Amino acid sequence: MGKYTNVAHYQDFSELQKILSVAAEPYDLEKITKAYKFAEKSHGDQRRVSGIPYILHPTSVACIVAELGMDTDSICGALLHDVVEDTVVSLDEIKKMFGPDVAKLIDGVTKISKISYSSREMQQAENIRKMLIAMADDIRVIIIKLADRLHNMRTMDCMPEQKRRDKSLENMQVFAPIAHRLGIKTIKDELEDRSLQYLDPVGYKEIEDTIQLTEEGRDKFIDDIKRQIIEKTEETIPNVYISGRVKSVNSIYRKTYMQGKTMDQIFDIFAVRVIVDSLSDCYNVLGVVHDIFKPIPNRFKDYISMPKPNMYQSLHTTVLDKNAIPFEVQIRTWEMHYTAEYGIAAHWKYKLGMGPEGNNDDKLTDNIQKVKKMILDQLEAEDVTDIAKNIRNDFAENDVYVFSPKGDVFNLPQGSTPIDMAYIIHTQVGHRMVGAKINGKIVSIDYKLKTGDICEIITQKEEHPNKSWIDICKTASAKSKIRQWYKHEKRDENIIEGKQLLEKEFKRHGISLTEEEYADFFQKLMIKKQYNTMDDFYAAIGYGGIQLWKIMPRLKEEYQKTFASNIEELDVPQAPVKRKKANAGVVIEGTDDVLVKFSKCCNPLPGDDIIGYITRGYGVSIHNRHCTNVPKDLSNCEQPERWVSCYWEDEIGEAFRSTLQITATDRTGLLADVTIKLSNMHIFIHSLNSRELDDGKAVVTATIDVMGRNHLRGVISKLSDINGTVEVKRI
Ligand code: MN
Repeated sequence: MGKYTNVAHYQDFSELQKILSVAAEPYDLEKITKAYKFAEKSHGDQRRVSGIPYILHPTSVACIVAELGMDTDSICGALLHDVVEDTVVSLDEIKKMFGPDVAKLIDGVTKISKISYSSREMQQAENIRKMLIAMADDIRVIIIKLADRLHNMRTMDCMPEQKRRDKSLENMQVFAPIAHRLGIKTIKDELEDRSLQYLDPVGYKEIEDTIQLTEEGRDKFIDDIKRQIIEKTEETIPNVYISGRVKSVNSIYRKTYMQGKTMDQIFDIFAVRVIVDSLSDCYNVLGVVHDIFKPIPNRFKDYISMPKPNMYQSLHTTVLDKNAIPFEVQIRTWEMHYTAEYGIAAHWKYKLGMGPEGNNDDKLTDNIQKVKKMILDQLEAEDVTDIAKNIRNDFAENDVYVFSPKGDVFNLPQGSTPIDMAYIIHTQVGHRMVGAKINGKIVSIDYKLKTGDICEIITQKEEHPNKSWIDICKTASAKSKIRQWYKHEKRDENIIEGKQLLEKEFKRHGISLTEEEYADFFQKLMIKKQYNTMDDFYAAIGYGGIQLWKIMPRLKEEYQKTFASNIEELDVPQAPVKRKKANAGVVIEGTDDVLVKFSKCCNPLPGDDIIGYITRGYGVSIHNRHCTNVPKDLSNCEQPERWVSCYWEDEIGEAFRSTLQITATDRTGLLADVTIKLSNMHIFIHSLNSRELDDGKAVVTATIDVMGRNHLRGVISKLSDINGTVEVKRI
């Protein structure tokens, strides 16, 4: 390909040394040599697909990184970037040999290399870009990765067609935009042009041919322009440096093919770049240019006072020469120039005091020394980590980026859980979720997702989101979908549940109504509100839209008014079903500070199923639920409202954590069965692991929340039903 034929596809260590030797300030050559030797040894006789020794790939990547002017650690990182992934060397070894910084860079590059990009989906590209930036704690990781991508593109010819196209598409959608955002134009342009060549070889060639055809005329044209500008500025503006440039093939392609312009309509295929010493000179040159040539209206852009987000600064104007041929003029200082070419990398470049390598232009080299001090001064005030942080901020904000196992990326707010992920994938996935795996391991459902996690949602056939998820998940949309589900999908159950709850509450308050009275009563009362039918009202109680403890006082009042009846004045505990402090080791639902005594008839022991009876004047007496003095049917006995629910103190904690060990015949799906069983019982799972035993059995260890011993007993018995279970025990 014409434009880049001068770039050697593979560069060896001597070439790297040559690049480094041009640097004005020294690199740690000993460390770099050590890294090279170690990489060479580690890759051994590995080869590239083309048959070329593998070590030449990392060495070439290191050359690209060096040419950007990056520091010693970046170059070591580039040399070693494939060592951890492709050889037996561990990150610890790297850390011992080259220090934590190099190890961190390699770890970062390895991590982002593992991501599989699903280039099928255009809308994913933005998320992938953001995620890559967010994943790299150190922006140097991204720069090494870009160099790696670039070198792979330089050597892509021996790859199969499909792979070339896939990689090219990824470059266009993910990596070139990142290079652009970091302001590294050299890498951006080459990545795009090389990718375009694979994606549309015909279109590429057409443009390249046109550029080539006009090359001779262009050189003459530009020389002429240059001469005119120099003549006018010679006496007033010092050190004016002018070069001609051709736009990258890809940017011409975009304008011709995508914006439907012809080559003649593209003003800036050819451009003249003027580089000067100072900011004021930029505007002086602009004045001169507009004096000599006729400016085209609305084509002037001042990116000096309004820099582009990627730090790019220059004055742009398009003018006509005497033959009315339009061309663009870009005017900038040297500092702006280096930032335009190397972007964020320019900051390392000047820390090292390195000039543009391989450029024989004396004037350019001269200027570097002048501008160096200026940039160094500025750098002192501006920490590169701040710049990187800013870039990350407007790239990635505070979101996390999580993969589905298929490779799609999802963007979620910080603090999101697998539940949020499930509902973002699809409402049905959320409703059917029973658990989640992160990077292949089962996690608890309240796990906080991290950028780069691969999150797999475990689902079952039936829809049954857990009500408690509403408090666990982060996103409003997940919360509302769960609520919606309870509202609609479970309407029948909600109606039954709501009706039962209401009846129970009526009994507790001594409200008794005949069917007819009942209907009348409600007709007058809550039907005024948004509930059209009794069922709507019950359903609302069932799914939690109406909270009984809030409406009971009013219902009671209304009841008294309507029926003017004499409700037997009972010592009825107030309705809010709150579990308060324990009293003598027993908690009585809805009340605290009540005298508690244990009945002599049945002597309830901790752990027994118990119930309380509100005595007249002696507080609550506690009975065993199976005591003969306790009616069998509490809803159909004398004064049912006097019986109240009680719990043993140690059985009621919000999170009574228990770890169970399930031994079963090892088979696929065992873990999933356990998860589903637990989930169907609405059990909160803290952790779930399984390991194989030697005898063909497996042990699943589950840490769960239970509401007490009885509850736990029930859970154990349900788990014992699982196919192949040998034993379930508490550990
Ligand atoms: Mn590589």
